[in-house]
Amino acid sequence: MDTNTYTEQFLAALTKRDPAQKVFHQAVFEVVSTLKPVLEQKPLYIKERILERIVEPERTIIFRVPWQDDKGEIHVNRGFRVQYNSALGPYKGGMRFHETVTQDVLKFLGFEQVFKNSLTTLPLGGGKGGSDFDTRGKSDSEVMRFCHSFINELYHHIGYHTDIPAGDLGCGAREIGYMFGQYKKLTNDFTGAFTGKKPNWGGSLLRPEATGYGVAYFAQNMLATKGDSLQHKTCIVSGTGNVGIYAIEKLTQLGGKVVGFMDYDGSIYDENGVDAEKLAFLKDLVFVRRGSLKEYDKKFKGAHFRPGKKTWDIPCDVACPTACENELHTEDAKLLLKNGCKCVCEGSNMPCTPGAIEAFQEAGILYSPGKASNAGGVAVSGLEMTQNSMRVYWTREEVDQYLQRIMNNIHHSCLSAAEEYGMKGNYMAGANIAGFIKVADAMIDQGLV
Ligand code: GLU
Repeated sequence: MDTNTYTEQFLAALTKRDPAQKVFHQAVFEVVSTLKPVLEQKPLYIKERILERIVEPERTIIFRVPWQDDKGEIHVNRGFRVQYNSALGPYKGGMRFHETVTQDVLKFLGFEQVFKNSLTTLPLGGGKGGSDFDTRGKSDSEVMRFCHSFINELYHHIGYHTDIPAGDLGCGAREIGYMFGQYKKLTNDFTGAFTGKKPNWGGSLLRPEATGYGVAYFAQNMLATKGDSLQHKTCIVSGTGNVGIYAIEKLTQLGGKVVGFMDYDGSIYDENGVDAEKLAFLKDLVFVRRGSLKEYDKKFKGAHFRPGKKTWDIPCDVACPTACENELHTEDAKLLLKNGCKCVCEGSNMPCTPGAIEAFQEAGILYSPGKASNAGGVAVSGLEMTQNSMRVYWTREEVDQYLQRIMNNIHHSCLSAAEEYGMKGNYMAGANIAGFIKVADAMIDQGLV
């Protein structure tokens, strides 16, 4: 059977099996669309049914999470952990706490994580978890009761050598702290079973900054392939969560001028760009006060808050989507291109729709998928695990050096895999191919398990 027929039949069977899992299908379709030359050169992957095996999580845990709010009312959320692939190491990936969380979303995120973790070259398998619990608008004690209840079930299934959760949307150091506390209580074991811990009790310095910094380092690498740099480049960063804020910080430090960013309420257009004072304000607003960007335009002259509006109409050289999946559509891509954007570096997971990616690739601009350019977060999680097992702490500078080296290596792997398989300059193909081959070969080595 030729490769085209094989992949068509494979994708048809995938869709038929779980017809409602649309975002998961989108993630698999993207990967498979770039793997044909690999399957042609190495038919063993077809014979070993690697695609059929790699799309199926090794294990999925779904459980009830009951908790009480501050008024004593009882609520029931649903908890998940998708333990996707352990060919390269224990399952590793974040927890998403957001009302949009479903099994579909976590399968897409877990699938992406397998490839991303492989690209870091660290010994990490892939997984993802979370709940449809929304941390927004909840008190600290409500979040704590929820996290404790969540772990009352999940602690059976995770552990330092098995599965190491971390944060994601709605899950930061506060939530990791509550989950770790309950895990430790139930297991009587202080191990690095979570990453993203606070540095004063086991976390790695630079972990909060790592994803955002990694995005900026990757963008710098991409521009360097054109003999260019971030110096004086106008940049847009969409989300202003953990990834977005630190992407803004590093882009600025590397000479870029960040003029647009957004949150759930709307976006800011600040043609003067973010400076150190504005960044300090943003960090306090987002991380401490958990407030809205509306406050930014009241505080800084020349900034405009645009209620309910996204950032993509703001002219820029470099765009870093850092909010959530499918946040950048075909029409947004066209607008960015019309306004002269030359580099799109993804900070969130699968933020660009297939139509948007096609538009960027047709226009021939630099485009990198999140699984490559946002891998800095999980990479520093891997370093946190190393520090925990060695019982040492590395300085910020040491971690930053590792991070830069890892991001440079990922950039290099993407470009060389793309070139080797006849798709020069295509970061999406390169990331998928390099990530896939490492996992596929390990699966073959380990036999049919
Ligand atoms: N949630 C992050 C990601 O999408 C980090 C995962 C981790 O550190 O384990 O890669």
